[in-house]
Amino acid sequence: SAQAGPGGPICFFDPDLARLAQERHQLETDLRHAIRDGQFVPFFQPLVDLQRGALVGAEVLIRWQHPQRGLVPPNAFIPLAEETGLINDMGRWILESAGRQLAAWQHAGRDLYLSVNVSAHQIPKGLTPDALHELAQRLGFAPASLALEITESILISDVDGAQAWLDAVRARGFRVFLDDFGTGYSSLSYLKRFTVDRLKIDQGFIRDLATNAGDRALVEAVTAIADSFGMQVVAEGVEDAEHVRRLRAMGCHYGQGYFFSPPVPLDAFSEVGRRIPELMQPFLDAAPGSN
Ligand code: C2E
Ligand code: MG
Ligand code: MG
Ligand code: MG
Repeated sequence: SAQAGPGGPICFFDPDLARLAQERHQLETDLRHAIRDGQFVPFFQPLVDLQRGALVGAEVLIRWQHPQRGLVPPNAFIPLAEETGLINDMGRWILESAGRQLAAWQHAGRDLYLSVNVSAHQIPKGLTPDALHELAQRLGFAPASLALEITESILISDVDGAQAWLDAVRARGFRVFLDDFGTGYSSLSYLKRFTVDRLKIDQGFIRDLATNAGDRALVEAVTAIADSFGMQVVAEGVEDAEHVRRLRAMGCHYGQGYFFSPPVPLDAFSEVGRRIPELMQPFLDAAPGSN
């Protein structure tokens, strides 16, 4: 790092920092090309109705098929996309592919919905309620089949703007899910103020459900609060049968996680969907109380 003796020369050159800056610059250049050259791929992770044991939809999770690096996960490029504003183009692209898929399903008579992650940086200007409405009209899918996943971070800078955006999006008929619930600034007063359709409980609260009474109490309480506000709960990170058993017993509505499937490309999704009833049957068969 930079060393300066009293009155001595200051050395600004740091090989590590220089390499990091270079890598960041390269990533940014690659990211611009990725948008231009169509290197993004939507992956789909099933969303399961835990009480009925049925597939109801999927979350769309973006992947980057990098020509040299292979499949790059979102955490490796979303933050840079946000800093550079590229998130807006990327966000439009992912919504466009989700919308096309919904239109295709609805055309084929399949009643599935999709949720798409929206970055706080896209709200309120990068993704307007009018643009969403126009997308649904142009591609021909029902607004109610598209959910926007937001996090509480949208509330940080502009509470009134965020609220107006939320209200307008829901007034257009789209649904809104609050993602990673419990990890942010979750204040119960937000729930009263910001009407959303579903709360997605972060996987951190699901992981140790079998051993951690605190997590169980929290999931139960959130489910009860959601019920009383007319919202539903989605458990993220459902990884094993014990999670399913406990979540069902607690009255949790929906689940998503590796127990059902990791996110997969579209061509694998139909097969994954076909397996869900089979995976869920043992829980439905179990006598009430033995759950
Ligand atoms: P998220 O929206 O909370 O998505 C859930 C993450 O948990 C996904 O990681 C998913 O693959 C992972 N996951 C699912 N089931 C399990 C499980 O059973 N166990 C564990 N340990 N993990 C599970 P992924 O796909 O790497 O995405 C990470 C984050 O990147 C997402 O978190 C979301 O915030 C962001 N992201 C993904 N796609 C997009 C996008 O199109 N736009 C924006 N703005 N953000 C995106
Ligand atoms: Mg999400
Ligand atoms: Mg999440
Ligand atoms: Mg997350």
